[in-house]
Amino acid sequence: MSELIKIHLSEDEIPRQWYNLAADFEKPMPPPVDPEGNPIGPDALAPVFPMNLIEQEMSQERWIDIPEEVLGILKIWRPTPLYRARRLEEALGTPAKIYYKNEGVSPPGSHKPNTAVAQAYFNREFGITRLTTETGAGQWGSALSFACKLIGIQCKVFMVRISFDQKPFRKMMMRVWGGECVPSPNMDTQVGRSILEKDPDTPGSLGIAISEALEEAVPDPKARYSLGSVLNHVMLHQTIIGLEAQKQMEKLGENPDVIIGCAGGGSNFAGLSFPFICDKIHGKDIRIVATEPAACPTLTKAKYRYDSGDVAMMTPLLPMHSLGHTYVPPPIHAGGLRYHGMAPMVSHAMNEGLIEAEAIHQLECYEGALQWAHTEGFIPAPETSHAIAQAIREARRAKEEGKERVILMNWSGHGLMDLTAYEAYLNGELSDHDLPDEMLERYAASMDGLPMP
Ligand SMILES: *Cc1c(COP(=O)(O)O)cnc(C)c1O
Repeated sequence: MSELIKIHLSEDEIPRQWYNLAADFEKPMPPPVDPEGNPIGPDALAPVFPMNLIEQEMSQERWIDIPEEVLGILKIWRPTPLYRARRLEEALGTPAKIYYKNEGVSPPGSHKPNTAVAQAYFNREFGITRLTTETGAGQWGSALSFACKLIGIQCKVFMVRISFDQKPFRKMMMRVWGGECVPSPNMDTQVGRSILEKDPDTPGSLGIAISEALEEAVPDPKARYSLGSVLNHVMLHQTIIGLEAQKQMEKLGENPDVIIGCAGGGSNFAGLSFPFICDKIHGKDIRIVATEPAACPTLTKAKYRYDSGDVAMMTPLLPMHSLGHTYVPPPIHAGGLRYHGMAPMVSHAMNEGLIEAEAIHQLECYEGALQWAHTEGFIPAPETSHAIAQAIREARRAKEEGKERVILMNWSGHGLMDLTAYEAYLNGELSDHDLPDEMLERYAASMDGLPMP
């Protein structure tokens, strides 16, 4: 047992239901609202999402069945292996044990297809033939292109301009899987044209790309929009990660003391941690830590407010920690961690004291990523390096305190499509970015006048 490097579950041990944390929150989450502060019902979301996903979005049921066809596709790479990072532990000289769930083994290389496959399936079942979406670094766009191809519907992706230019390989993956990928902002949409008129050189942002994808989907009755993070049903679909990890930890006879995930919109963090938050609510002593970039400090510095999910304010207002929907991130390379808001469920868990958060600068993350590659071998996505840097901090703390500790981390994806970012780091071209207080205040001002949760 003590020499184990990884533990697999067999195919028939795959979880058959998703876990919905909304059923276990002591205090219910505030509902989404319109600009006047009135709660919005399912009908208001119907032009944007299919009703079967809207039901999941609003569900209070603890367990929701995973359809057989979805399971059949997930089984291409699931259950994913759980590893012990023994070589990293040795290099750190820590008494802590570091376990990680490897979500990089999916065809697109991250956790994102866990929800992409489910969303494509429920849209097709509802009669939808085309999905539109946004993507930052391209992981979501490639995951949704992959899922739509296997489920048999079309996919159009608005890719944040700076990543469209910096990360050509993800564009090609989307094409291989039959997705159409265009840069955002784009002259094809009203939102895009108005932004390009004011600022032709804008790097773009997820908030802008979301507005464009919505503008394209809403008028077409056969099209819907798909979001890769933030929403309740996305958190739900990702819980298969934590449910598998619980079975694997149980087989090992281990109880995690610390759970770690990097947090952009919150979905991979939620996926691993929500089943363990359920344990915590029911009395287990576990620390659960979300790690975010210092350049986009949503949980550590942004206020809990009602804010729009996009720059044109086309989405309902969601209760979340938000930097403000006008936020344009500094050009850090972790493209998937640059969203202005944090999932309402993760934000609520933070407010309820169920989780904590830390912000880390990018150079410490790349240092951790290299130490990881030099010991464990795998090259992590720049997003994942934030979880790694946090795990290293926790392991060092355990060493200082002379305490054993079981750390469980989500390894959200590989970095094989992000090698230009590694090259920039190795060339010494990257620097740390903070979000100065006056910038924080300026972006936050975009939420003035909106209702408060
Ligand atoms: C998209 C992405 C993230 C960030 O998104 P979350 O919704 O916060 O999980 C993290 N890691 C990888 C590899 C990603 O592709």
